[in-house]
Amino acid sequence: MATNKLLLAFAICRLMVTVGLTLDPVELLRLGVDGRLSVTPSDVEMASLDFGGLNRAEPLAVHHPASAEDVARLVRAAYESAHGFTVSARGHGHSINGQAQTTNGVVIQMSGGSSEAQLGSSGKPALTTRVAEKLWYADVWGGELWIDVLKSTLEYGLAPKSWTDYLYLSVGGTLSNAGISGQAFNHGPQINNVFELDVVTGKGELMTCSEEQNSELFHGVLGGLGQFGIITRARIALEKAPQRVRWIRVLYSNFSTFTRDQEYLISLHGQPPSRKFDYVEGFVIVDEGLINNWRSSFFSPRNPVKISSLASNGGVLYCLEITKNYDESTADTVDQEVESLLKKLDFIPATMFTTDLPYVDFLDRVHKAELKLRSKGMWDVPHPWLNLFVPKSRIEEFDKGVFKGILGDKTSGPILIYPMNKNKWDGRSSVVTPDEEVFYLVALLRSALDSGNETQTLEYLTNQNRQILRFCDDAGINAKQYLPHYTTQREWMDHFGDKWASFQRRKAEFDPRRILATGQRIFKPSFGLNTASW
Ligand code: FAD
Repeated sequence: MATNKLLLAFAICRLMVTVGLTLDPVELLRLGVDGRLSVTPSDVEMASLDFGGLNRAEPLAVHHPASAEDVARLVRAAYESAHGFTVSARGHGHSINGQAQTTNGVVIQMSGGSSEAQLGSSGKPALTTRVAEKLWYADVWGGELWIDVLKSTLEYGLAPKSWTDYLYLSVGGTLSNAGISGQAFNHGPQINNVFELDVVTGKGELMTCSEEQNSELFHGVLGGLGQFGIITRARIALEKAPQRVRWIRVLYSNFSTFTRDQEYLISLHGQPPSRKFDYVEGFVIVDEGLINNWRSSFFSPRNPVKISSLASNGGVLYCLEITKNYDESTADTVDQEVESLLKKLDFIPATMFTTDLPYVDFLDRVHKAELKLRSKGMWDVPHPWLNLFVPKSRIEEFDKGVFKGILGDKTSGPILIYPMNKNKWDGRSSVVTPDEEVFYLVALLRSALDSGNETQTLEYLTNQNRQILRFCDDAGINAKQYLPHYTTQREWMDHFGDKWASFQRRKAEFDPRRILATGQRIFKPSFGLNTASW
C-alpha cells in the first residue's frame, strides 16, 4: 500500500513537471483513486504499443482503475487541472495506428494484462459480468474481453448475438468502432446489440445512457472512437447459445457470381432461422499459399485444392464462408436446411469443404491461428491493415482495380470481403457507412515480414494501401474507412461527411477540453500541446 502511494506520488510529480499539472499529489491521493497509477517501465512500455506496431507513444503514467468511479475521478482531475492532461482509455491495445496511445497524459488500462499468460482471464476491476438470464442481457465491464464475456454467459446457456472474428478485444474497444463479423447482416454490428451504457464523459461525470436516457451520449459513444467518454459498463443483448456449428466454404472464380450469392444470402435476414445461414463472410485468394490463411486451418490435406486449375479469371479465386448453428433439437434437420440453401448457390462444383465443431471453437477460431503464429514469431510484427466499407454498386470496379490490379499476385495476409445490410445499422450512432442499402467490408489484413522479399516489407504494403485509397478517390468509389485513420481534420471532416456537424457538437458537449482518445487525431486538446506528439 505504501509502495503504491509512493509510486502514485512519483507519477503525479512526473505529470506536474511535464504538463504543469497543478494538483498537489497529496490532493490527488485524497481523491481516493483506488486503482493503481503506475509509471513502471513495463506498464509504460505496454501502453506505448499496439497491435499495428506502426506507432509508439509513451504516456506519462498508466492507470489501472478499480472501478468506474475511479475512472471518473481521474478524468475529472484531468478536466479540472489548470493546464490539462490527456486521458486515453486502452482496451486490449489491438488498434493499428496508435488510437489508444497518448504522450501528454495518462492511459487508463481498462482490460487486464496483455501478456500472453493473462490472455482470456482479465484481472477484472470492479464489475464482473452479471447475466440477467430472464431478461436476455449481460452487464459487463468496459474493459472485459469478449472471450470472457462469452465464458460468463455460456454458464447460463446464453451468448451475445453479434461478434468480431477475434474475441481477444475489449467490449469498450469494439463498441467504439462498430464490432463486425459474419453475423452483422442478420443482427447488425455489436453497437446495435447494446441496451445501455455507463460512460465517464470528458468532464469526469459518470452517466448512464440508453435510447431513452441521455440518448445523445449513448448514440455518440457507439462507434464514437472514444471521443465522448469512456465506456465502463455495457448491457449486451444475449440469445440462446447454439451448441454446434456447420462451417462451410465454397469457391468461385467469377466475382459477379460470388457477390451475387453473398448478396442473396444476406437478403434472407428477415427469414426464419431455418431458412438462412447464421454467418456470411468470404475472402479473396490471390495467392495460392493463402488458401489456408492464418484465420484457420480449414482445408485439410485430405481435400487439397488445386488453385491453379480453378482460377481462370486473372488468377483470383473467391471463397464464400458460411455457417449454420444448431443444437440437439435441430440436429436432425440441419443437413436438409444446409442443402436447400446451398442449392440456390452457383459455386464451382466439387469445391465444397465442410467441417463441424462446437460453437465456442468456431467463435474462437482466430485465436488458434494466433497461437500458431506466435510460436513462429509471426504475430508481433507490424500490421499495416486497411479496412474499407465499399458500396455495393462499386464493388466490381474495386475487384478489377484492387484484387486483380494493384495487389499483383501476392497479398501477405488474408483479405476478407463480405456484404452487410445498412438497415441493420442505427444511423444515430457515430459510425460512418456508405450511402447504399448494401455495402461490403473489404479487410486487407496484412503483416509486414522481414523475409527479404520486397513485397512483404512495411514500406511496400503501406505504399500499396495508399495506392488503394488513391484508386478509390480517383474513381469516386466513396469508400469509407472502417477503424479509420487520418492525420488532418480536413480528412476527418470528409470521412464523417453529413455526420461531422453532430460529431463536433457532441465533442463540445461531452469532452469540451478535448482530452479523451487523442490518439485518434481528430481533435487537438484545448490546452497547448506540441501537436507533433498526438
Ligand atoms: P484499443 O486498441 O485498446 O482501443 C481502441 C480505441 O477505443 C482507442 O481510441 C481507445 O481509446 C478506445 N477505447 C478503448 N476502450 C474504451 C472504452 N472502454 N471506452 C471508450 N473508448 C475506449 N474489428 C471488427 O469489427 N471485427 C473483427 O472481426 C475484428 N477482428 C480483429 C482481429 C484482430 C487480430 C485485431 C487486431 C483487430 C480486429 N478488429 C476487428 C479491430 C478491433 O475491433 C479494434 O481495433 C478495436 O478497437 C480493438 O479493441 P481493443 O480493446 O484492443 O481497443
